[in-house]
Amino acid sequence: MRDLVVFPRMVVPLDVSRVKSVKALEEAMAAQHLVFVASQKKTEIEDPQEDDLFQIGTLAKILELLKMPNGQLKILVEGQSRGKALEFRSITNKGYTEVLVDVLAESIERTPEVQALMRQASQLFEQYIKLNRRISIETSVSLNTLEDPAHFTDVIAGNLLIKMSDKQVLLEILNPEERLERVIEILHSEIEILNLERRIHNRVRTQIEKTQKEYYLNEQMKAIQKELRQKDDSTKDIDELREKIKAAQLPTEAAEAAEKEVGRLEKMMPFSPESTVIRTYLDWLLALPWNAVSTDSLDLKRAQAILDEDHYGLDKVKERIIEYLAVLKLVKKMKGPILCFVGPPGVGKTSMGRSIARAMGRQFAKMALGGVRDESEIRGHRRTYIGSLPGRVIQSIRKAKTKNPVLLLDEIDKMGTDWRGDPAAALLEVLDAEQNKTFMDHFLDVGFDLSQVFFICTANTLASIPSSLHDRLEIIRFSGYTEEEKLRIAHNHLLPKQLKEHGLEAQDVLVPTDAMRAIIRDYTREAGVRSLERWIATLCRKTARSFADTPPAEPFRVTVKDVRRLLGVPEYSTEKAADNKVGSSTGLAWTEHGGETLAIEVAKMPGKGKLFLTGKLGDVMQESAHAALSFIRSNAKKWHIKESFFKTQDYHIHVPEGATPKDGPSAGTAIATALVSAMTNRPVKRKMAMTGEITLHGRVLAIGGLKEKSIAAFREGMDTMLYPEGNQKDLEEIPEDIKNHLKMVPVKHMEQVLSLALGAKGLPAGRQVPSQRPS
Ligand code: ADP
Repeated sequence: MRDLVVFPRMVVPLDVSRVKSVKALEEAMAAQHLVFVASQKKTEIEDPQEDDLFQIGTLAKILELLKMPNGQLKILVEGQSRGKALEFRSITNKGYTEVLVDVLAESIERTPEVQALMRQASQLFEQYIKLNRRISIETSVSLNTLEDPAHFTDVIAGNLLIKMSDKQVLLEILNPEERLERVIEILHSEIEILNLERRIHNRVRTQIEKTQKEYYLNEQMKAIQKELRQKDDSTKDIDELREKIKAAQLPTEAAEAAEKEVGRLEKMMPFSPESTVIRTYLDWLLALPWNAVSTDSLDLKRAQAILDEDHYGLDKVKERIIEYLAVLKLVKKMKGPILCFVGPPGVGKTSMGRSIARAMGRQFAKMALGGVRDESEIRGHRRTYIGSLPGRVIQSIRKAKTKNPVLLLDEIDKMGTDWRGDPAAALLEVLDAEQNKTFMDHFLDVGFDLSQVFFICTANTLASIPSSLHDRLEIIRFSGYTEEEKLRIAHNHLLPKQLKEHGLEAQDVLVPTDAMRAIIRDYTREAGVRSLERWIATLCRKTARSFADTPPAEPFRVTVKDVRRLLGVPEYSTEKAADNKVGSSTGLAWTEHGGETLAIEVAKMPGKGKLFLTGKLGDVMQESAHAALSFIRSNAKKWHIKESFFKTQDYHIHVPEGATPKDGPSAGTAIATALVSAMTNRPVKRKMAMTGEITLHGRVLAIGGLKEKSIAAFREGMDTMLYPEGNQKDLEEIPEDIKNHLKMVPVKHMEQVLSLALGAKGLPAGRQVPSQRPS
């Protein structure tokens, strides 16, 4: 056998391949199944002779024999007893070696000494197994049942994982006690070696763990360093911030707030959400024009020139501005009322604000208030959450870059209120000269001086301006423009402006008056010039396009035909004025978009004297219809209207364009006229418009917006307008060209109205036509 020692009573599986051995086994199987197994002294020898083998071996019994297909054998042998080879007989013809063996008997004495040795060996072996995992624990258990010291030692010897030569030594020790001692010796040294091995293993393992740990710590250190470096960056950042604050020369309060926030920022992680809030805050503090003031140019002549250059007409407005500047020049500091421009859209309120800024040499900022319902839109959000910002006032100031800009508060009449607080109250604080020196924005949380800001408000109508605000405003009315005014504005301002914006030269495009008038009449129906400007822009755009294709040889003279061609189908037909028929009259209304005509229709039908009203009429207008009917009924005789009419007829009053709500008392005369016309079958005079509230006794009361209404009447092609006598004082406001074309007739009683509208024949007998006083 190579590298193997079989001990007595040990069961060992063996692979046998050498022919000699195979032959020997076959022979043994034929006889008593007995073989003598001896080990080679040197493993590498292929065909060992007598001298190459140890003399002491083991007599073994073959328990099982398995022939493999390749001729090899697998056998299971059990050691029987030690033996000594006495004589080798090589039988060449049979091909195996026969040995004469001396079976060596062993004494079995269990002296106390032997027992002590056995116990010690057993303990050591247990330790040995624990250290050496390759031996099964069962071996040690079965060991404890063994009484025979020889057997006991052999089991241990057989299971030791030691060199073959050492095992051979153990095999050759025939005295069990001596063998036991030797085994104990070996176990001792083996255990020591194993312990050492384990220690080394552990050391290696901790070494590896240590390297891993080091690696991990190193990585962590790198991360920390990175963080530290960032901290470093942010320290630099914070230093920079401090410098900026110093350079900005903030007022004390703001500087203190800024310093406090920088201190907080310093203690924070650089990219924490809170630090972002603080940074935004500081950014705002630094960006505001705490000290930046523009010098006012108070040259009144120059200012007047600028205002005239920018806007046609609007003389009253311009005059008021010049006055304002004059006072400012004298007193240096202004605490006067806030100007509020009221008028329909597109009449130049905003652009006048801009022009004032230009005339005074101030910056201009605009702050839209339309749809603002939340106080914090004006005053800002508190800095409690991310994304909060200052209110619009401070935002506008930042944009203006100076603390004395002209700030236009646009559409203050479109502000609302809801549960989030009243923006009007916040606005009051902004406008109040007593309070706005230290205006508190929730976001800034330090006062900002608004006292040098020139505030201008704009509104379409006074009705919806909160009364608390109304008190502080000096109302300056902008009324709608007449066609002539529009023509001039278009020629002098809108067209040059649009030409420039479209990259065209003023001499390239000529729009004669008739073409411009066509645009105004057929494409717009407005008090201001906003859509007129849009149409002019369209005209310029289309022209620019054709110019881009073929540059013109000579100026392009726009004809009315060109207007049609370029702008498309007209939006409005010129003749809007309906033929006044029986039961229809033309009233006049005044809305925030300017003046408008109201077509009023009355239909009568058999019924019980009921009055139906349709066309989205408000309460006031409905009441005035009822009042008109009652007035007519109480005066029916005068008009030759039978009383039965009020019992057998129903009347339906309708005001078309039902989508727009209409209200107000000033349609009273028009409704009454239409009703009487329907009852008496008399047509109302053509091209006559009327306005006026009536009382139950038929008196005609004054109304508002006479100028706007007259402009609308004129625009819609009317030639006569009946108005309450009480409004005569407003006549001077009405532009000359309207007065020249529209006959303005003051009336003070409904009878007058009816006789003018329905003709002299409608008058009750014996009465005279009241004198007409055309203005
Ligand atoms: P509003 O603020 O009253 O609604 P805008 O100021 O926006 O109207 O005016 C609309 C356009 O009409 C602007 O381009 C403005 O310059 C022009 N405009 C209005 N009125 C005049 C005027 N009297 N002279 C010159 N341009 C005018």
